[in-house]
Amino acid sequence: MRKLLLVITGFYCLLNICFAQDSVPKLTGNIKISIKEGSIESDLKLENIPHLEDYYIRLNKGMNVLNWKSLDGKGFLLHASVEYDKDSFQTGESMAYYFLDNTRKRKYLPNNLEVKYVGKFPVVKDTLNDNYMLSDWKGNIAFNSYSLRTDGAQSSWYPILYDIKKDLPYDNITYDINVSCIDCKVLYVNGSAPLNSNKGQFESKNPVPINLYCGDFKYKEIDSIYFLNPDLNKNQLDSLGRDIDKYKKYYQQTFAIPYKDAFTLIHTTPLSKRNAWSFASFPSVVNIGFGKYGLQLYLDSANRLTIAHELAHYYFGNYRKFNDVLGDMMLEGFTEYTGMQLMRNLISPNIYNKILTQKINILKDFQAVPFGKIKVSSDFQNRELYVYYYAPVIFTAIEKIIGTDNMNSWLKNILNNKEKTTNYAFLSGTLKNVIGEQKFAEIESQLLTSDISKSNAIELISK
Ligand SMILES: [Zn+2]
Repeated sequence: MRKLLLVITGFYCLLNICFAQDSVPKLTGNIKISIKEGSIESDLKLENIPHLEDYYIRLNKGMNVLNWKSLDGKGFLLHASVEYDKDSFQTGESMAYYFLDNTRKRKYLPNNLEVKYVGKFPVVKDTLNDNYMLSDWKGNIAFNSYSLRTDGAQSSWYPILYDIKKDLPYDNITYDINVSCIDCKVLYVNGSAPLNSNKGQFESKNPVPINLYCGDFKYKEIDSIYFLNPDLNKNQLDSLGRDIDKYKKYYQQTFAIPYKDAFTLIHTTPLSKRNAWSFASFPSVVNIGFGKYGLQLYLDSANRLTIAHELAHYYFGNYRKFNDVLGDMMLEGFTEYTGMQLMRNLISPNIYNKILTQKINILKDFQAVPFGKIKVSSDFQNRELYVYYYAPVIFTAIEKIIGTDNMNSWLKNILNNKEKTTNYAFLSGTLKNVIGEQKFAEIESQLLTSDISKSNAIELISK
């Protein structure tokens, strides 16, 4: 995801940065929504649950649970325990539930689980008279009076299984769910086509993060792209559709990996005055912002990096997932770097130079810990600056030394490498594969382990 305003709110927005799941759970059941009431009522089953010894099931804090039920055997109600301290998932939207077996010493996880719950959330009708949220963010369950927006991971609006040992959330799952929303005109469940109705059955056999966008709005389908609640006219949408197609083809050619799937672009407005951002949740990208921060931002040459970045997440975050402490940096850093390359090659070298200069300027007073010395995520000090500014500047400096062809080979190596843990050894190993030990040693000492890596990078770039 990429923020448009440098508003550092402490609410950070992450894609799923972990690994491909071994088995894929399926969500079934019923969801009732009211966008006027700000309510979600769910009667859901999570089926085909993998056998895990140590896990949590994350569910949004605003959801009041009627009961959890094991559907194994004849079925029985479960006593749920909650871990309050150890599961800090991003901004803490969710509660971490688990069940104990009869010994009360080990965790128990049924193969099939049912949960019924009700949640009610604030409905922001306007951004006047202090009737709005101070901040809005990706993991918010957001009712803005004409729609409901959720992401498919961080918000945990549905039960999301998390494997503690592997640091792996099961948030790419299949589904067959019935959605009804008494005051909606359009329903969208990620991975399905939007529906002009206030109720419908939605099914996806492809595992996806299940983000929702339902409400009283219109949608258009142009050249196999669904535009939900677009704030552009027909000509502008045609133009944006052509751009998206061009960007997808560019990435496909660069990485030699097909850019598949129908694509949905969702526009909506935030519950706060000052936030504007986009996030990718393939096959959809969500744009959140008022006025010039709406979809027209993607048409503005100087700001096309925003949509270029989100589309690059198809590869970094969707095709290739990242974990471990450097995972977040690689996820956003490589995505941003890749988007910047698109800007240079397809839009304008001048704009690319401006973006790079702006990044360097913003880093002026930032003391960055080099990649090789990051032990915990708090070593980033300022995540925003580290992953969206420092990391792409370091990658640009590496490109200066090894050239764009080698850089692309490195990126392809990262995308196609099957290694499960994306730590420093992974980062350096994939680079060594491309340029050899000797060249790598030179780069490592200057840019990956040096305490003055930032200055070294800026010097290299300025040469
Ligand atoms: Zn991003």
